[in-house]
Amino acid sequence: MASILEQARERVRATGARVTGARVKVLAVLLQADEALMHTEVQRRLEQGDAHELLDRVTLYRVLEWLVEAGLAHRVSGPDRVWRFSAHGDDAAAGTGHAHGAQHGHFKCRRCDRMFCMKPSSRLAGTVRGMLPDGFDGDAVELTVVGRCAECAAAEGGSPHEHGATSDGVGEGVALAVIPGR
Ligand SMILES: [Zn+2]
Ligand SMILES: [Zn+2]
Repeated sequence: MASILEQARERVRATGARVTGARVKVLAVLLQADEALMHTEVQRRLEQGDAHELLDRVTLYRVLEWLVEAGLAHRVSGPDRVWRFSAHGDDAAAGTGHAHGAQHGHFKCRRCDRMFCMKPSSRLAGTVRGMLPDGFDGDAVELTVVGRCAECAAAEGGSPHEHGATSDGVGEGVALAVIPGR
């Protein structure tokens, strides 16, 4: 985890804000995760990691909020409407500062209920805005694909309903929403 901690420290430092152990360790947990994490899961991983960082709930919330405000992470609402946090996708625009998750969609696995960030696309927002009715003005794009993640697709492999599934995630539905900007 050393290099991820280093990466996290660099990113926090690059914002010009104070580099605290809590900010660095929470960001490192997000960077290391494949999926977007609920705060309880972030806490669990902090306690398990070499860092053994014990943050109380309020502090953890504050650190997560700070990471989002600083543009180092973003949040996405899961199937249970609980916020999940991810630092992926935010590095696509590293240096420019403002990715904020608007340029990538999320994958919701209906089997394990995990949320994953999809690859960023510079064309995503423009494509969706092009689908808006005349006179509508969208500020932000949220894209969610529902299906099975790679792990679950592999675990369910050989099902008779398989449509040529590969080891990649299998998308079964797409939900699009243009949400008002903040
Ligand atoms: Zn899954
Ligand atoms: Zn994301």
